[in-house]
Amino acid sequence: MEGTSPIKEKGADKTMIKDMFGTDRLKINLHLHTTQSDGHKTPEEAAAIYREAGYDVIAITDHWKYRESGAIGGLRILSGAEYNIGGANGAEGVYHILALGCGREPRIHREAGPQAIIDEINGCGGIAVLAHPAWSLNTVEQTKGLEGVGATEIYNTVSDAGESSRPYSGDFVDASACRGRLYPLLADDDTHYYNGEDETASYIMLACSPEASDAELLEAIRRKAFYATQGPEIHLRREGSRVTVNCTPAVRISFFSNAVWARGRCVRGSGLTEASCEIQPFETFIRAEVTDADGRRAWSNTIELRQ
Ligand SMILES: [Zn+2]
Ligand SMILES: [Zn+2]
Repeated sequence: MEGTSPIKEKGADKTMIKDMFGTDRLKINLHLHTTQSDGHKTPEEAAAIYREAGYDVIAITDHWKYRESGAIGGLRILSGAEYNIGGANGAEGVYHILALGCGREPRIHREAGPQAIIDEINGCGGIAVLAHPAWSLNTVEQTKGLEGVGATEIYNTVSDAGESSRPYSGDFVDASACRGRLYPLLADDDTHYYNGEDETASYIMLACSPEASDAELLEAIRRKAFYATQGPEIHLRREGSRVTVNCTPAVRISFFSNAVWARGRCVRGSGLTEASCEIQPFETFIRAEVTDADGRRAWSNTIELRQ
């Protein structure tokens, strides 16, 4: 655990990133826009920017525009699209749903409701992602009845880098988890402007072979074989009644669960690489976040706690 940044090893024709435990990771942004909808770069320009930044995979998720899997300029593309409904008034129910890894283009009506969109994405073999719930002002009341949501975004870069300031969905995530919805937690750029702020900032590090098929990539996302980050590593594990975070040097390590208050859930200092806490009998889930000295954050997935 001496390294503070991932080690890169040049393979035959792939770049492998290893985490602090030696596990191969793929660097992935699953949400971005291009000139095919309201993004400011072409798909080719976007792919070049992400490839240059060391990404292994991106999904091009233009609004109502399906982009199939393949490669652009040597960068792997996972099929994607974003189906947004509800306009701009959060009081009326705004839902933005990503389709990731579909085997064919979803057939979705502009008048479809959120459940019909999710059903069609799942019917195409993809993962339906509830994008930026904080930005959309989604509530647990709105989403608790939706079946088949495969993941959500705990962080969405452009929601703090464009024309809005609600990038963080941790409150929604925790309130959902209180109701038993433990979604895989993505951090995505949702790149639109490519203005030095909303590109190549937030991503997932997926434990998966670069040779994996699309189905294997999706399977790894579904079983939460990743952490979400802006740079730091975060690894969360449970042993009995104790939960431990290992991370690259951080100034803050925080735990989040259905306990609205518990002792020792926020550790501050400098160069922190580990923190742990005791689970209380009533706790049903727990997750963690770290912040490094540069203010960059990382988010673990949620662990379900069965006593
Ligand atoms: Zn959106
Ligand atoms: Zn988007």
